[in-house]
Amino acid sequence: SDLVMPDAADSERAAEAALRPRHLEDFVGQPVVREQLSLVLEAAISRGNVPDHVLLSGPPGLGKTTLSMIIANEVGGSLRLTSGPAIQKPGDLAAVLSSLQEGDILFIDEIHRLARTAEEMLYLAMEDFRVDVMVGKGPGATSIPLPLPPFTVVGATTRAGLLPAPLRDRFGFTGHLEYYDDDELATIVVRNAVKLGADLTQDAANEIASRSRGTPRIANRLLRRVQDWAQVKGNGKLDLSAARAALDVFEVDQRGLDRLDRAVLEAVCVRFGGGPVGLTTLAVSVGEEPETVESVAEPYLVREGFLVRTPRGRAATALTWQHLGMAPPEQSDT
Ligand code: ADP
Repeated sequence: SDLVMPDAADSERAAEAALRPRHLEDFVGQPVVREQLSLVLEAAISRGNVPDHVLLSGPPGLGKTTLSMIIANEVGGSLRLTSGPAIQKPGDLAAVLSSLQEGDILFIDEIHRLARTAEEMLYLAMEDFRVDVMVGKGPGATSIPLPLPPFTVVGATTRAGLLPAPLRDRFGFTGHLEYYDDDELATIVVRNAVKLGADLTQDAANEIASRSRGTPRIANRLLRRVQDWAQVKGNGKLDLSAARAALDVFEVDQRGLDRLDRAVLEAVCVRFGGGPVGLTTLAVSVGEEPETVESVAEPYLVREGFLVRTPRGRAATALTWQHLGMAPPEQSDT
């Protein structure tokens, strides 16, 4: 099931790092964000300023971290990486801020999970390039303003709407990342095969792309598994039949559904006549926690029209029956 998760496992960070594009022109897809960002960066560079703070919103695995690295690379600043959950108190943020150098890019992943108490410090730092450092404890404590060199915050969030308005307002530019289409994913897979030294055919790239749920992270992961298969079971060549055989072994079907996804759909159709069925009942019948079904399987199934949420629970669609190769019961035709 981990194969089609949009989030990165810690163990794959190194593999991902090797595949990241380094320049904006090598970043595939997202034409809108790419054009906007290139304007923002070029203007800042030609004025000799640091770029405005940038907010990147969109689902996991679509390239937010990669873009922050590209920004740092394009403007020649060093990249500092942190995340909302890593900053639990203002002191954590003060430590990061006071170590910044001019032109640094501070990437804050999951910025919507920043501690409320640290938010105000971040506002001040973003707006006035200043941090107030508390010196001493108790009634004698005083705050000393510490000027910061100009720097750029790149915040990443799954949804811009999750950010409090005052924080959102401090970003000069917000880029919304969209899911990739199959052609874009295939392009990414072809380029990465070259980087991995894999002998990949175009039809195998298309096959991997079409099972990757619009997400480059998943495409890269499937590519590595097809490479594994070709090396161990095949003749080393990543062609269409190797791709299909590998993805069968790893139980990722033609639409990118994995075992849990299909178990959920089969339960809705076979056990509950197409639904609607409540989340808890559904989860019990596939032997999972309701949260797992809701957060792991459901988003993609709903996005792709395999499942609908109704007030009375989850229900199958015509597409669900078709995908499972089953005929819907008579009464659900109406
Ligand atoms: P996010 O931060 O949004 O979760 P990442 O930036 O970590 O996503 O991207 C996940 C993986 O997908 C990385 O290995 C990255 O190289 C690759 N990737 C993402 N977007 C692109 C793109 N547009 N072109 C090429 N590779 C990409």
